[in-house]
Parts: sequence; structure tokens; C-alpha cells
Amino acid sequence: MSLTTEPGGGSAYTRGAGMGTAIEELRGRVNGEVITPSDGAYDEARKVYNGMIDKRPAAVVRCTGPSDVAAVIGVARDEGLDLSVRGGGHSAPGFGTNDGGIVADLSPLQTVVVDADARTARAGGGCTWAVFNDATNAHGLATTGGIIGSTGIAGLTLGGGIGYLARKYGLSCDNLLSAEVVTADGQVVTASEKEYDDLFWALRGGGGNFGVVTSFEYRLHPVAEIYGGPIAYPVDRADEVLRFYREYIAEAPEELGGFVGFHLAPPLPFLPEEWHFKNVCLAVPCWAGPLDQGEKMIKPFLDVVEPVGAHVGQMPYPALNTAFDPLLPPGLQAYWKASFEREITDGAIAVHTDHGAKVPSIQTAVHLYPIDGAVQRVGAQDTAFAYRDVGFSPVIAGMWEDPADNERNIAWVRSYYDALQPYAAEGGYINFMDGDDQGRIEDNYKGNYRRLAEVKAKYDPGNLFHLNQNIRPAS
Ligand SMILES: Cc1cc2nc3c(=O)[nH]c(=O)nc-3n(C[C@H](O)[C@H](O)[C@H](O)COP(=O)(O)OP(=O)(O)OC[C@H]3O[C@@H](n4cnc5c(N)ncnc54)[C@H](O)[C@@H]3O)c2cc1C
Repeated sequence: MSLTTEPGGGSAYTRGAGMGTAIEELRGRVNGEVITPSDGAYDEARKVYNGMIDKRPAAVVRCTGPSDVAAVIGVARDEGLDLSVRGGGHSAPGFGTNDGGIVADLSPLQTVVVDADARTARAGGGCTWAVFNDATNAHGLATTGGIIGSTGIAGLTLGGGIGYLARKYGLSCDNLLSAEVVTADGQVVTASEKEYDDLFWALRGGGGNFGVVTSFEYRLHPVAEIYGGPIAYPVDRADEVLRFYREYIAEAPEELGGFVGFHLAPPLPFLPEEWHFKNVCLAVPCWAGPLDQGEKMIKPFLDVVEPVGAHVGQMPYPALNTAFDPLLPPGLQAYWKASFEREITDGAIAVHTDHGAKVPSIQTAVHLYPIDGAVQRVGAQDTAFAYRDVGFSPVIAGMWEDPADNERNIAWVRSYYDALQPYAAEGGYINFMDGDDQGRIEDNYKGNYRRLAEVKAKYDPGNLFHLNQNIRPAS
């Protein structure tokens, strides 16, 4: 047993004293809360967004900055504990918690500092898109982020980041300028094109494999208000909607983003009551160009098939990005599958219309996101995100309330996914994959996998950061 001081990890602690002592000593070493099974807050703290995940870590540490993170890393490494890194907690497989290990929960790190002149923003590693978008919108600025406000900027950006603005401004990771990272040896470094450029390359699509990001610096763009919103169609007309969509989006200016998909109609005022909870095809176009062109750009969506209902108009960008949050509270059961599609072929449309018409719950979402335009102008080897040549990223996001429905709903997600395979590219977007997709990670990174494994070996040779879509260190 020896007293030691971690780089950036605060005061000395008793290395090798055992897990219990190491965790108890953390209470005096970190600024954030250390929550263990004997604490009243434990049952809330161990939860992640996916209610199916019921795990009991030895401690959840609410990290308030890089030194807290370094202290947690030191204990996990020295005591041989599993380490979960939690940003917004949205990972479908529930990587943000574990059994018997330790959780670095970054949720206290929510500060967003906007430099309006430079059009950049620096945001804490536990920030959500709702917080980020509100802060940048105050300056009439935005960057590509997720379509739900409660999703963490961290996991989403590190895996790639698909959202309404991607066709015009690229993925979230394409807008990353630098990241403050605590590495597996407890050092705090800033990774950018200029410093630690190998690490910076890997962070842009490689997920949480390389260190804990305590702050992200993004490029911002002049987007304050958008024109768009949800349009629901009778599900038996989905075939026409999808055919229209694939043609329209292919030619549309890049300021047009948004997705098509399948849902049960939510009980919202813009939809007639007789349609509530019925299967619908849904489009959510978002025009982020000159607002006086918005109506003209969205009109074809309203004309293609007579909608069941639509709630389309001019609104602040953050309003669209939080519009569906009330439908998706934390604690839902979740099981997701995803692959990429080069194009929406007639065969794929047949699968989507067949399976999409049977969406089984009000929270389940099937979305087809376009990822062309600016996303494809970044080279496949320029960042870790390798799939720069596919047109669409479909996700079958199964979510529901009652655990009694798990078997039936998981079976529906899997059968939909299996039926799409003849039309899918290999691999799939890691942020839309589930826990049983580890075997597909290498395919997802295509030619970049070897380089990622080498960067992993350099920054995390012991695979401390393994509770993620894992890239193993090259040997
Ligand atoms: C309701 C919902 C909507 C979504 N919408 C979109 C969308 O529009 N676009 C899209 O691209 N994706 C979307 N996703 C998927 C989302 O990108 C992933 O779930 C992502 O992992 C969420 O990030 P998080 O920080 O909330 O998750 P967490 O569960 O906290 O983190 C996931 C993983 O990321 C890593 N990680 C998290 N924080 C850090 C950090 N600070 N430093 C290092 N590693 C870290 C860890 O490996 C962790 O296990 C959505 C997910 C949900 C549940």
C-alpha cells in the first residue's frame, strides 16, 4: 500500500487499500458528490435513460471538472474497476452505468460559453442539446446537434452526430474545434488539429474510447429560426411519401434537413383525435435557409399526399429540437438497431412500408436521416467517422413503457432490421446501435479501424474505457 498523488487528481490517496477504502477516500478528494449504495440519492444516480438497464455500480461520482475525472480514473484503474463515462445518459445499451464499478457522471458540467464574434462555443462534457441550443440561440447561432433536447452533446458528438443541420453544416463532430480530454493515465490535454491531432482525429466518430471529454469547443453557424415541423400522413400512403422524399431531398438545397419515418400518432392538438395512437408515416422537414423561402421549400411535403395533420411554421431552432421531448421521458424501455443505406431503393421502401406500418408503441421511432451534402464533403479518412458515402442513416428506435412488452417489441425491432439487411451497407452508426452490436464495430469504421486501434493503444492501452462500442487497442 502506498500514498500517491494522481496527475490532476487532487490530494493523496491510499493506492491498493481496496475498492471500499478508495471510494470512501474519493469523497474527500473530489469536489462533486460521491454517491454509494448507502446514500439516499443512489437509486436515482445509478439510473440511465434506458429503463431496461438496472445496474448497481459501487459509486457514481458527479464530476465537477477535469481533476474530479482524473481522480475517478485513477481509482478505476488502480482498483481494476469497470468505469462508465456518462454525459447525457442516452446510450441505448446503457453504457453510462455498470454493476460493481464506478461511474464518472459529468452532468454537473453544463456551462456553455459562446464567443459570438468568433462564432464558437465551449460547452461542458455533461451538457445536453437543450442547454447548448438555448445558449447559442441567444446569439442567433447554432451547430448540428440531436433532435431531442435531453440527449448529451458528449456521446452524440463523439459518435458522429446527426441532426437537422447536417446536410448544410456537417455532423456534430465535423464542427468540433477542440476538446479538453482526461486520458487513461489521468493527464488533462487539449486535442485539436494543432495538438494531439491523432487523438482529435479519433474523437470525431470514435466514441468514448479515448478519454473523458470535459469540454467541447464547436464552430457555430448563423441559424436562429427555422421553418418546418412535423407532418403526419396515413400510413397506407407511406410508399408515395418515401418515393417523394428520396427524390426531393436529393435535389434540395442543403439548408433543407429533417427526416421521414414511422410512428404512432401522438395525442397532440395538431392531429385529429380519431388518429391518435394510429400508425402514421411522419416527415419532419427543417428549412434552415432564408425564412422567406421556407413555405415554398416545405410545400411539396404538404402536397405529396393529404396529411392527417401538420404543425409547420417558423420557429426558433431550439423549439424544434425540444418539440418531441415530452413524448420521451427518461425510464422508457429501449432497444435500437441501425445500419446505413446508400439510397432508399424500391426494395428498402417495401420493407419500410411493411414493417414501419406496425410500429408497436407511442414512443417508438423509425427515422431515416439524410447524411449527404456537407457530411460527404469530409474525406472518409479525415475523421474517424468513416461512412461518408452513404445517403441515409436509418434507425429503428424501439422505446416503450412496460417491461412486459420487452420480448414482443425487441422481436419487432429485430425483424425490421433483418428485413432491411439486403439494402443496408455493412456496419451502422455506433450511436444508433445496441449492446449486441459489438461484432459490427469494425465494419462501422471500415478502413479507419486499424488506425483507431493504434490511437487506442497509445492513449488507452489497458482498455480502461471499454464500456462503449469498443475499439480494442492494437497489439
Ligand atoms: C431520445 C434519443 C434521441 C437521440 N437523437 C439522436 C440524434 O438526433 N442524432 C444522433 O446522432 N444521435 C441521437 N441519439 C443517439 C445518441 O447520439 C447516443 O445515444 C449518444 O450516446 C448519447 O450521448 P449521451 O452523452 O446522452 O449518452 P451517454 O450514455 O452519457 O454516453 C454514451 C457513451 O458516450 C461516451 N461518453 C459520454 N460522455 C462522454 C464524455 N464526456 N467523454 C468521453 N466519452 C463520453 C461513453 O462511452 C458513453 O458510454 C439519440 C438517443 C436518444 C435516446
